[in-house]
Amino acid sequence: MTVQPIRLFGDPVLRTQADPVTDFDKELRTLVKDLIDTMRDEGGAGLAAPQLGVGLRVFAFHVDDVVGHIVNPVLTFPDDEEQDGPEGCLSIPGVYVDTRRRQNVVAEGFNEHGDPIRLVGTGLMARCVQHETDHLDGVLFIDRLDAAARKEAMKQIRAAEWYDAARPPVVKDSPHGRGLFGLGR
Ligand SMILES: [Zn+2]
Repeated sequence: MTVQPIRLFGDPVLRTQADPVTDFDKELRTLVKDLIDTMRDEGGAGLAAPQLGVGLRVFAFHVDDVVGHIVNPVLTFPDDEEQDGPEGCLSIPGVYVDTRRRQNVVAEGFNEHGDPIRLVGTGLMARCVQHETDHLDGVLFIDRLDAAARKEAMKQIRAAEWYDAARPPVVKDSPHGRGLFGLGR
C-alpha cells in the first residue's frame, strides 16, 4: 500500500493551480498509484494530486466500479443539462452539501503512459470529473455553492473537529512589543 496523508481544507496547496504533466515517467506512475491506493483506502469517488500535496494535473476516480485516472484533463460539455445533489470532498471531511453540476461531461487527456484517452461521464461520474478537475485549478466544491449554502458549509467546516489542526500555523506573537530579551508577551 502506498496510502498517503490527504491535505485538508486550509492547506494552501488546495488553492494553487496545478501544472500540466510534461514527463510521463516513473514518478508519475508512482503518483497515480498513490492516488488510487489512497482514494480506495478512504472510500472516495475521486482524488486529485493537489490533495496529496502534489501540484500536477492528475486525478484518480472510482465511480460505479470503474477505477481509473486521467492526466492533463480538458473538459467539454456536450449539452446544457444540469444535476443537483449532495457532494463532498476528502479534503473537507464530513461536509456534504447539494451542489449543482453539469449532467454530462467529456474529459480528454492522457493515461500514465502518455497515451491519449477520452472519458465520457454522466451523472455521478460527470460530477466526479468536474469536482476533481476543479481541484487542479485550486477550486473547491464549496466555491460552486450559492451564498446561503456556502455559509452553511463554512459553519459545518468551522465546527468540524479536524478544522483547527488543518489551519496553517498562525503567528501569535508580534515581532514588535515582545519586551526586553524577547521574554515579554
Ligand atoms: Zn475534493
